[in-house]
Amino acid sequence: MKSWSMPEIPLVPGTGPVPMLHDTATGELRSASSHGVASLYVCGITPYDATHIGHAATYLAFDTLVRAWLDAGVGVEYVQNTTDVDDPLLERATATGVDWRELAASQTDLFRSDMTALGIRPPDHYVAVTDVITEISNAVETLVSHGTAYEVATDDSVDGNNDLYFDSARAAETGPWHLGLESGLDRDTMLALSRQRGGDPGRPGKRDPLDPLLWRAARVGEPAWESRVGRGRPGWHIECSVIAINRLASPITVQAGGSDLIFPHHEFSAGHASSITGEPFADIYAHAGMVAYQGEKMSKSLGNLVLVSQLTARGVDPRSIRLALLDHHYRTDWEWTADTLVSATARLERWTAWAAASTGSTEVDAAAPATAGSDAPDPVVDALRTAVADDLDTPAALAVVDAAIAAACPATAAAVTAIDALLGIRLR
Ligand SMILES: [Zn+2]
Repeated sequence: MKSWSMPEIPLVPGTGPVPMLHDTATGELRSASSHGVASLYVCGITPYDATHIGHAATYLAFDTLVRAWLDAGVGVEYVQNTTDVDDPLLERATATGVDWRELAASQTDLFRSDMTALGIRPPDHYVAVTDVITEISNAVETLVSHGTAYEVATDDSVDGNNDLYFDSARAAETGPWHLGLESGLDRDTMLALSRQRGGDPGRPGKRDPLDPLLWRAARVGEPAWESRVGRGRPGWHIECSVIAINRLASPITVQAGGSDLIFPHHEFSAGHASSITGEPFADIYAHAGMVAYQGEKMSKSLGNLVLVSQLTARGVDPRSIRLALLDHHYRTDWEWTADTLVSATARLERWTAWAAASTGSTEVDAAAPATAGSDAPDPVVDALRTAVADDLDTPAALAVVDAAIAAACPATAAAVTAIDALLGIRLR
């Protein structure tokens, strides 16, 4: 599927450190690369409420990871999906009287334009679930052949087929994954989250209440595709497992998304993938915190969304939105307020004035970027690199620039380039 425009990311003289990243599964800070190559899978949007500030914060966090990898000279292969057929999307389409395909297409377009405005590097493979239904159904067939999928009696399917579920216990006996490997959660918490987040622990006939749906047999009025496991549509977690493992070598370096995906989505994405490949799914499971507004997590159902497109339509500089988000560590939960943008806009004005005050050196360096002479140590560049490579500590990176301005350090060409490359803020 069409991705979005690639932002220009300049090369900073020298090389930054390989980033360290917090891993949800182990609770450790781990080196996010092996052998000079890194692969990344970030769960994409379900296109019905794009693109609120919470989404933007998540994709910006992992954009920062990509920028840190590039600065470290690490090769990156990045995959993202869009969940363009799923219960929340279908429910929204029904509620608003819009065809679900049109809703998904229009919201995905909006997401692309918002990502472009924010200067977020696009994935190398941007994959719509509806474009890969056969890939997914073939993987479900593989799980059936491995004995890690089973039928649950289904009395309302149109073809008389049964739904297929993942056998968590069997997968744990036969592969490198077990329930809780990724999330580390206890069973009661898993059951509660399963109920809240699209699971069906109360459905009769399941071997374990937590076992997730792999393939939903066709129902009246629902989209369905022909496949070797019967007509139907995929469950949520298997989509991401298959899109990832069919495009990236196993295990992938980083599986990423918002912290509301830790369970059940990432737990079972890992379980399905491991049960198909026999390999661990990812080296690191990385999660971005939630952004609240008016006291609650942003959500369409609560009506408390701050949309990127609304801000840019009001004339807000996308760099201010970036700075507002980068001022919070990606793993923290925080609240967007009216002051958030005011202080980010003031910071952008300070930074641009600082960069403009020493434009002479830019002209010289712009003519000959990354020359041997420009490899000279630059304390602002070094400090920026150290901050970003330390679990994407962007608040510390912003503080580095603030401190340089407060100390009346001149804006070197290398520092201005590093701010652009690592933080995505172009000052000149
Ligand atoms: Zn996903």
